[in-house]
Amino acid sequence: MTNKEYADILLPGVKHTWEEYEKMYPERDLPEGAMVTRYAPSPTGFVHIGALLTSFIDGRFAKQTGGICYLRIEDTDQERSIENGVSSIINSLNEFGITFDEGQVSETEYKGNYGPYIQTERGDIYKAYAKKLIEEDKAYASFLSKEELEKIREEQMKSKQRLGIYGRYAKDRNLSKEETIARINNGESYIIRIKSPGSFFNKIKVNDLIKGTMEMPENDIDEVIIKSDGIPTYHFAHAIDDHLMHTTHVIRGDEWLSSLPKHLQLFEILGFKAPKYAHIAPLTKNDNGTIRKLSKRKDPEAAVSYFTEDGVPKEAIMLYLATVANSNFEGWLDQNPNGSIDDFKFDFKKCSASSGSLFDLPKLYNISKNYISRLTKDEVYDRTLEYATKYDEELKELLLKYPDYSKEIFNIERQQKKPRKDYEKFSDVKGQIWYMFDELFNKEDKNYEWQSITDKEEIKNILDNYIEIYSESDDKETWFNKIKELCDKLGYASDMKAYKENPDNFKGSVADISTVIRVATTTKSQTPDLYEILRILGKERVKERFNLL
Ligand code: GLU
Repeated sequence: MTNKEYADILLPGVKHTWEEYEKMYPERDLPEGAMVTRYAPSPTGFVHIGALLTSFIDGRFAKQTGGICYLRIEDTDQERSIENGVSSIINSLNEFGITFDEGQVSETEYKGNYGPYIQTERGDIYKAYAKKLIEEDKAYASFLSKEELEKIREEQMKSKQRLGIYGRYAKDRNLSKEETIARINNGESYIIRIKSPGSFFNKIKVNDLIKGTMEMPENDIDEVIIKSDGIPTYHFAHAIDDHLMHTTHVIRGDEWLSSLPKHLQLFEILGFKAPKYAHIAPLTKNDNGTIRKLSKRKDPEAAVSYFTEDGVPKEAIMLYLATVANSNFEGWLDQNPNGSIDDFKFDFKKCSASSGSLFDLPKLYNISKNYISRLTKDEVYDRTLEYATKYDEELKELLLKYPDYSKEIFNIERQQKKPRKDYEKFSDVKGQIWYMFDELFNKEDKNYEWQSITDKEEIKNILDNYIEIYSESDDKETWFNKIKELCDKLGYASDMKAYKENPDNFKGSVADISTVIRVATTTKSQTPDLYEILRILGKERVKERFNLL
């Protein structure tokens, strides 16, 4: 029996040979230096902030080198896959501006000549290559039952040995073809394992673009490549797919770093050129002094949706992730506050090589605050409306009812050299501007933050006098001069210096008068520019508010 016939018995019904597949996936025609990267999630339905980081880095390196970044769905672990998992990943990533050149690129659109890009649709391909290994005597059928495997595991644990099928544990490695076929004919279940040519005592040098060169023990485990249901393992599918799809750079989480010797060996025995690897450190969290990985189970902020629901602009999240991706990005952003991420050149050498990057929420919110402060009034209006449409019906109604008025509010202390930074996220907006809408102001149980002047009579006196002289057509200087005149009239210092020198000569100062007007109008002792607030509200409404007191 030829090796080919033997391989046909072990893996029957395979439609194409590996040589045919090689022809179906020709070299890509790309310029020198162009990177082909891929984001390869398992469709578990949950989009982790770390997934956003990885896919972002994948996309950036491809884009900045004129290459390709494709999306490959790794669904060989059917137990972990959920229905609509793929759509939910694509929609979430698209929402953050992460797009792919190939694979499923949107809810309904597929692109690319190197597909299928879903592993469960590539079953025949993996088997064709497994057959190649069987023919070359580099893989074999292993009949170890669940019970036998469990026994081996227990023995290894007990005697503190490495786990896995290697050396004397690789029992079926040298079964003859005849014995193997007899057991198959006997109905025994089997899987395909490689015959690892490695020795654990050999140290190999592995190169990682982020972690540098490392010494690791060579793989000697007879790794499973095809499971008993005919589905490949992640390791095998990775090697075949990245070879056929001509991935130049595998960028992935560093939980896969320890599998690298295994993967390099698979590339070697398959006769493939291995891609370059870049393993990204995970996002971590300081949990009461212990640094641990950001966990999907324990940390709500691990889900990308946590931030979208809170109204953090997606651009700010991406800017923050860019600071995590490359340590010099932040400095660049300080120099180019209006710069686009597209203008920054990412470098593997500037990625954190350590075991984790602390997920720094205050920094994320700070970036977000700065980002929102640079938006125009129209942009803030649109984005707040977008947020309110999903999460705040009342605010949505108000924004739709008073668009120009709302924009005037958003324009206060905006578009100036040092814009006001009131909002960290769109969910903050309502809490900062509610008093500008009578609908909200009137229904509120008001807590007036009177400061130094609390005497009701005095407050009334100040407000009565003020409303007499206030005109909404005054320019800011006239407006302020009128307040000063009022101070003089009522016995308050219009000049702060004079007040500080002789506080006893006055009832208070211009600051106290302004505060009374501010609090009576808004209930708040701190607000954006009072002149603007009064002007936007208009004299009639200001008067109404004074009358409430
Ligand atoms: N499917 C793997 C995961 O979700 C991806 C690993 C890789 O990028 O190779 O972790």
